[in-house]
Amino acid sequence: MSASQPVIYWFRQDLRLSDLPALKAAAASGCPVIPCFFIDDETPGEWAPGGASRWWLHHSLVALGKEISQKGGRLVVRRGDSRKLLAEVVEETGAQAVYCSEAYEPWNRELQRVLSADLEQANARLHCHEGSLLFHPDAIRNKAGQPFKVFTPYWRHCRELGIAAPGGRQQLSRGRFHQHRLQGLKPAEWGLLPESPNWADGWLDHWTPGAKGARASLNRFTKGALDGYSEGRDFPALNGSSRLSPHLHWGELSPRQACAAILDADSAGDSDQQKFIAEIGWREFNYHLLYHHPHIPERPFKPRFEQLPWADSQARLGHWQQGKTGYPIVDAGMRELWHTGFMHNRVRMVCASFLTKHLLLPWQWGARWFWDTLVDADLANNSCGWQWVAGCGADAAPYFRIFNPVLQGKRFDAGGDYIRRWVPELGALPDRYLHAPWEAPADTLAEAGITLGDHYPEPMVDHREARAAALEAYDVLPSGD
Ligand code: FAD
Repeated sequence: MSASQPVIYWFRQDLRLSDLPALKAAAASGCPVIPCFFIDDETPGEWAPGGASRWWLHHSLVALGKEISQKGGRLVVRRGDSRKLLAEVVEETGAQAVYCSEAYEPWNRELQRVLSADLEQANARLHCHEGSLLFHPDAIRNKAGQPFKVFTPYWRHCRELGIAAPGGRQQLSRGRFHQHRLQGLKPAEWGLLPESPNWADGWLDHWTPGAKGARASLNRFTKGALDGYSEGRDFPALNGSSRLSPHLHWGELSPRQACAAILDADSAGDSDQQKFIAEIGWREFNYHLLYHHPHIPERPFKPRFEQLPWADSQARLGHWQQGKTGYPIVDAGMRELWHTGFMHNRVRMVCASFLTKHLLLPWQWGARWFWDTLVDADLANNSCGWQWVAGCGADAAPYFRIFNPVLQGKRFDAGGDYIRRWVPELGALPDRYLHAPWEAPADTLAEAGITLGDHYPEPMVDHREARAAALEAYDVLPSGD
């Protein structure tokens, strides 16, 4: 390659400058690097990033642009079809190579395939490196040479291979970036932020998108909640988990960096460290499943579940989305999601179980709502999370496991702090009735200033009846795996 011609670094879900093998390779080419990002709603089609994800992306790109300019470069952001935009930038700059991190969503894999051919035609090359996972989904196979379908043997196999150490900070010194004059959009033109209404008002109090924010979250977690994580992670009122998921989704932090920091932390015991690494393992496993079964965002992993007689009620979906089901733990979770773009993992399971089993609404409807409202919306984790709860996924919870939302609340939010935070109208209700307000005597409700059906909804369904109806619906499925 001629060192005077530039190369392009195409950022995707890897919005960082450290432990980034593709960026390291671009820098090692000796050519000046042009960093680009394309806001592409066309290629993913109906899986274009949802509202909360777009909000995150906006702030993450601002942070990345700032970091690049501190190193003497300028990030070019354009909007449209990645394939066309990349061809344009190659033509405008005469670049001979494009470097990027591999992405694993079905449309991204297809894009990588066509771009490779396009660039060859333009006498340029696409260099796609791993950078978002610990293990390439295609590299992990069982003894029969097949992809895994069960988490435990999958993860045992991965752990035997060992987790690689991170590659350290790239030395992208001033001279490495090309001093280009390419046109790009200003942040106000990106079209990523909500306008009227601005439902994300105040979200920057909860989140700091970008690599710097990711490092700060990791640091806070290793010095704090990691100690006791294996238990603390289950209690939604505690800040007991890392909240790294949006940072990991957008690649502001690599999983290698996260694992290395956790294993290095001497504040925590081995069991807490291993529990965290195993959660990263679930992320890996979900990508492994998505890679080998690209239909799982739309269709059940276990085909017999296609015959489940789902209900069809937009009204019921609306009550669930708005946190008005009458079950306090479910409503708290759905409101936390709306107000912050996040929901605690335990509560995600309870809310997903309520939608698919108590209301018998299709898991795909819930997955779509999460896709639009979660700041960590991730095709692999979201699809597999929903299929796991609905019972139709690989290595899923058995379909007859139906969370009792009252017992889940009593067990994981015994003091009611989480419910009182998100469902303040129940704030004055004594703990013993907080998880099932309809059981409270009339004078207790009156003292707490609550009229059911007025200040807070009556339960949408009766738990026992809903459970029996769900089991009956599942009973019509043909037997099998
Ligand atoms: P921590 O407990 O600190 O875990 C560390 C990291 O491990 C997480 O950041 C995440 O990357 C990974 N992780 C943790 N739990 C899981 C899990 N069960 N499956 C896969 N990876 C995991 N996670 C997403 O990142 N995006 C999603 O869109 C998503 N949708 C979900 C939908 C449902 C119905 C369910 C039940 C789970 C979903 N999850 C999703 C998984 C999980 O709830 C979140 O990853 C977790 O709550 C993020 O919080 P944290 O970063 O504090 O997790």
